[in-house]
Parts: sequence; structure tokens; C-alpha cells
Amino acid sequence: MSNPPAASNPSAAWQRLRAGNERCCAALTSRADVATERQTPRAAVFRCADSPMASEAVFGQSRGSLVEISNWGHVVDTGVLAGLEYAVGTLRTPVIAVLGHPDCAAMHTALNAWKSVSFPDGAVRAVVEHGISSLTRLNTTIGTADELSAAHVAQTGVTLLHKSPLIAKAVDGGQTAIVCLVSDRNDGRLRVCATFGDVSETASPLFECV
Ligand SMILES: [Zn+2]
Repeated sequence: MSNPPAASNPSAAWQRLRAGNERCCAALTSRADVATERQTPRAAVFRCADSPMASEAVFGQSRGSLVEISNWGHVVDTGVLAGLEYAVGTLRTPVIAVLGHPDCAAMHTALNAWKSVSFPDGAVRAVVEHGISSLTRLNTTIGTADELSAAHVAQTGVTLLHKSPLIAKAVDGGQTAIVCLVSDRNDGRLRVCATFGDVSETASPLFECV
């Protein structure tokens, strides 16, 4: 097997991260400012790990203002639930954003497995099963990975409510809300796929799927 390009070999990649950390530390004017902002996050973002954009860039928020939790394909496991429950229960985060994206490799993998009736082995199988679960539960005609992403983020919101009594209670009591979104492949604008709890300025729906 040939060696990877210099830009992607482990040593070069690590040195870039290390240098970036040095630049970041030099740019910080006050660690206390960052710490204070971190204590009052504006939202917890549950994002897909292969999304090319950081949540802070997608939402135009400052560094440290979001609690970011990610895995590949929005698999709602114990670690995800613990992180979101900490954000909602301890940090009093008022919004959970379930963020999907175009050309999601996880959704491509799930859709291909569904169409070929061939499930992969290993850990990736859980991602495929979660994706297909969203496809079948919504009983709709889904032909592309982008369509599956939209269905999957909405179904992920439902799953969070079902698996976490703490989150469900917070949504029911109006302390937090869940907004399920996908970003547009052309201009990056966000499209709301489902909301749970009240995030509107006028109406007060407990549940709305759009
Ligand atoms: Zn993805």
C-alpha cells in the first residue's frame, strides 16, 4: 500500500491541528469571556458527523455559544441522550436543533442498503438501521438521500422525545423545544422539517410537522 499524501498523513494532519490551536489561543482576549458564554448556550445542536459545516457557521453564532453533539447519521444512543439531557436539564438550553445536511453519506449508505436489500456489517449497520427506520415509519415515497435526510431529522426529534423523559417533560413544560432542520444544497438556508414545542412568535403548537 502506498503512503498517503503529505497533507493527509497523520503527522501533517496533527501538526495542522496543533498549529491551529496555537493560533486560537493567541487570538483569545479573555478565557473568562469564553467560559461565561459557554455557561449559557443558546442551543444544543445534534448534527451529523459528516456535515462539512460547523454548527456555529450554519447558525451564524459565536464560538462557544452552542452545545454541539454529533455522530454519523443521528443515531440516538446513550451518549447522545446524556449530552442532550445535560444541555437541557443542567444548562437550561432552550432549543435542541437536529441538523441534517445535503449529500449526507450516512443517508446515502442507508438508502443504498434499503434499495439493494444488503445490510453492511460492523458499527455502520446501526446507522443504516436508524436511517431505514425513518424511511419506513413515515410510510412515504423517498427516492433520494436528501429526502431521507429531511425525514430522518424529523424522526430523530420524535425519537428524542420517546427515549428521554427529561427532554419530553422540558418540551411539554415549555422550557425547551426541538427544531428539526436540513440545510439547502445551493445556498445553505435552513428548512424546518418538524418542530416539537413552541418556537413561533404567535402560535403555540406543541407538535408540528412541516
Ligand atoms: Zn451526514
